[in-house]
Amino acid sequence: MKNIVQQETIVAIASAVVPNQGSIGIVRLSGVTALEITQKIFIPQGKPSWKSHQILYGYIQHPDTQQIIDEVLVLLMLSPRSYTREDVIEIHCHGGIIPVQQILELCLECGARLANAGEFTLRAFLNGRIDLTQAESISEIVGAKSPQASHVALSGLRGKLAQPIREMRSSLLDILAEVEARIDFEDDLPPLDEAQIREDLEVSLSQVKHILATKDQGELLRSGVKVAIVGRPNVGKSSLLNAWSKTDRAIVTDLPGTTRDVVESQLVVQGIPIQVLDTAGIRETEDTVEKIGVARSLQAVSQADLILFTIDASVGWTLEDEEIYRQIKDLNLILVINKTDIAPSEGVKYPDEINQIVPTAGALNQGIYALETAIIDTIKKGETTAGDLDIAINQRQAAALTRAKIALIQVQETMENQLPLDFWTIDLRIAIQALGEITGEEVTESVLDRIFSRFCIGK
Ligand code: GDP
Repeated sequence: MKNIVQQETIVAIASAVVPNQGSIGIVRLSGVTALEITQKIFIPQGKPSWKSHQILYGYIQHPDTQQIIDEVLVLLMLSPRSYTREDVIEIHCHGGIIPVQQILELCLECGARLANAGEFTLRAFLNGRIDLTQAESISEIVGAKSPQASHVALSGLRGKLAQPIREMRSSLLDILAEVEARIDFEDDLPPLDEAQIREDLEVSLSQVKHILATKDQGELLRSGVKVAIVGRPNVGKSSLLNAWSKTDRAIVTDLPGTTRDVVESQLVVQGIPIQVLDTAGIRETEDTVEKIGVARSLQAVSQADLILFTIDASVGWTLEDEEIYRQIKDLNLILVINKTDIAPSEGVKYPDEINQIVPTAGALNQGIYALETAIIDTIKKGETTAGDLDIAINQRQAAALTRAKIALIQVQETMENQLPLDFWTIDLRIAIQALGEITGEEVTESVLDRIFSRFCIGK
């Protein structure tokens, strides 16, 4: 275990700050004077022992003015049994903005410093409590937009990514040691077991490729996809979105917008967050307000990963549909033939090159499941999966793994070409370094800054 360095005390609001919504607010302190600061501002009931892992009840009181600020619970988690391995104290007060902010300010007055983004987790990493993949997983659990995204992040936190990476790195370090020994003391040692090295390299390389295959899934789970519902007015776009939003498979948050503007909804389909943009009809217009809507629609279309081009089965393919299609035909699209309750979709003529068609009757909640399946099939097309792995790597991890992969292939080629042992070590070191960067065993300060700056304050 690393030596724990207790640093200056940091403080932050650890709970979400939403007016009128949180019943409990948490202010968290970590560092060498966390206990001392708490003892200055907290009046406990009775005579507590201030031992670790206790919950104390009492009041927060300003030490100078004696003004009572809130009734609180104080959690003591003293070094090393804490999130950061330093002395950590959580003050649980009433939720809402005022108590948490007043307590935060009091801690600052008493000598704590406001924590930087991710600084608690950075300290947990620097003090050896978690590795870098676990730190990133923590941030991903907080930001997860679907249960599946949270699930894979939790796997990361439980070390499911770090473990195979560590095993590979250790195997490569063994190979490197063998090779370097032959460079330094060739005459005193038996020859290298090249067959074994080849086998070990192949095992590591296929493992690297296997883990790399979780990248696409990771991106889908983290960022999700943007889908735009596009079509001329009255084909049933809003009804479709309503029906879709109401299905029990979907979790919906309505974002503000007007009917003439782009309305956004956040849905989750098969674990993938889908941001749906319901656009005003794309058409030429003289109406200024609608013009803005139309301009936004076109912008929404250009930002979407997939278009649901909606037409009306009872009217068929019109000139206006043709006009809209002309503007979007090079994009990734599904043709939604709506209102099939009043006219069969088979009767509708549409351009031959459209090969993804889903009949729906949005107003009657029909065809929604088929539409979701078509969407998932379309966005997952071409994606390689590593279904047995419960993890989903992020871009940083993927970049490092790609470097490791290239270096391992290079070592294999160097062996095939029977180049001198010095050459083997160059690429072995690159692969070892890249794997070490993933877990944080080899990482520079600037990389750490980049990772932790993406965290929220208080994490
Ligand atoms: P939008 O302008 O494309 O958003 O279209 P709306 O969703 O506002 O729908 C326009 C009209 O078509 C409304 O009167 C809806 O009730 C009706 N409508 C929408 N979907 C269907 C459907 O599946 N079947 C039938 N029969 N009517 C529909």
